[in-house]
Amino acid sequence: MVVGLTGGIGSGKSTILKCFQSYGIPVYIADDEAKALMNRSKVIRRKLIHLFGEKAYENDTLNRPYLASKIFNDKTLLAKMNAIVHPKVATHFKQWLNKQDAAYVIKEVAIIFENNLQNQYDYIITVVADKDLRIKRVMQRDGVSREKVEAIMKNQWSDEDKIKKSDFVIVNDNLKEAQKQALKIHKKLLKKLNS
Ligand code: ADP
Repeated sequence: MVVGLTGGIGSGKSTILKCFQSYGIPVYIADDEAKALMNRSKVIRRKLIHLFGEKAYENDTLNRPYLASKIFNDKTLLAKMNAIVHPKVATHFKQWLNKQDAAYVIKEVAIIFENNLQNQYDYIITVVADKDLRIKRVMQRDGVSREKVEAIMKNQWSDEDKIKKSDFVIVNDNLKEAQKQALKIHKKLLKKLNS
């Protein structure tokens, strides 16, 4: 069973993922794996250099700030990059999934509904939090301006829209409360598996 965990920037996906990890659930962080593959895979590297130029890599490492600046306001370029990277991540995920023998696994993906990928999951958990709290968290975590966080949020669905399409919702305004909700969901998922 594959459970998708999603949520807007700063909602606390990584934080909540740790709860599930502590219950022994294997977790796959799609963004991290994509970044690793972009560094490791010779095919991806060749294609990204073709798309973005030699600057795509610096000192043999993916030049993330450069790529981010290129794709931020260019949906066509973003789509082209995704077309290079996403199929490789999907294959990598399948291989990883085949090796797992836990009751279920969690795949963290920042953007599920926005890319219409909800059908790839048996269940979807969405982490939500107060917008202002999220902005403050990201400003602190990444050392960026409010405007920058709001610009990223603009490209993501609102919490209300995501909630409508989710099987489970975790409200992460308060960590202790969110942890309680995560444990409840974990137990429900195990029950669903056994029934
Ligand atoms: P996401 O992965 O959704 O972008 P993170 O899990 O990285 O979000 O959380 C963003 C920042 O907010 C992190 O620095 C994290 O430690 C902090 N954070 C997350 N949840 C809470 C919470 N309930 N209370 C206080 N800080 C939190």
